[in-house]
Amino acid sequence: MDRKSFIKQSAIMATGLFTLNEFSSLTTGLAGEKKRMPVMFVGHGNPMNAIEQNEFSLAWKKIGAAIERPKAILCVSAHWMTSGKTLVTAMAKPETIHDFYGFPDELFAVQYPAPGAVDAAQETISLVKKTTVQPAHDWGLDHGCWSVLKPMFPNADIPVFQLSLDLSKPPQWHYDLAMELKALRDKGVLIIGSGNIVHNLGRMQWNDNAFDWAIEFDTWSKERLLAGDHAALVNYSAKGKIAELSIPTNEHYLPLLYSIALQDKQDDLRFFNEKTMMGSISMRSVLLG
Ligand code: ZN
Repeated sequence: MDRKSFIKQSAIMATGLFTLNEFSSLTTGLAGEKKRMPVMFVGHGNPMNAIEQNEFSLAWKKIGAAIERPKAILCVSAHWMTSGKTLVTAMAKPETIHDFYGFPDELFAVQYPAPGAVDAAQETISLVKKTTVQPAHDWGLDHGCWSVLKPMFPNADIPVFQLSLDLSKPPQWHYDLAMELKALRDKGVLIIGSGNIVHNLGRMQWNDNAFDWAIEFDTWSKERLLAGDHAALVNYSAKGKIAELSIPTNEHYLPLLYSIALQDKQDDLRFFNEKTMMGSISMRSVLLG
């Protein structure tokens, strides 16, 4: 396929919304059949998705209703960045952090009063050998976490904890660390990587005409995900210019590596919210399980 028709076809795929049938096939078979919890990568996009009824928040809501109720939820959010250390929230009552500006008061008023998951945090500290994960008491739930969980699990009654991203480390390091978290899936923990595969705020525009490079990188990631080619996804920078434009800084991409590192061979892979927003943000999300 030449570049022009490649981009055209990608644009058609990128604008497609779920039909109800497609959505039911997305969630069929998730509830009750497997003990191991699924894993997700969620493109969180605009924080307003937390309170707006739109196609993205509707998809989150439907998935939350369809999957087995988790015992706890671990969020690996693009918005908890650390350097030289990896932290896990270890408080009984994490606060709702409004880590953005320029949004309506209504969004600043949102609370997500889920309990913390002190035991699961301790379990995480024990499981990870790659580094010494340290307990944190001065974080809470940032919007990469609660903006997704509010529509997905609106009752806020499932314990939630977060793991930070040590941005001093290369992508492979994050992938390797994430593999050590696999046992949590068997203990009822739903692990959600929350970021965006394509995330270039500097190139955002006030319409949804995606840049060619955004469509090309997003489509490449889709193909690599379908192929199970994790090595390529870890080494995304080999894609050159389209990777540089799509991932000017990698905090929104790294959560994807956490999610795929937790993938089992027998897991089904399903996409949701396959759409590009404001030209340079991909909402592509993945459900594995
Ligand atoms: Zn974000």
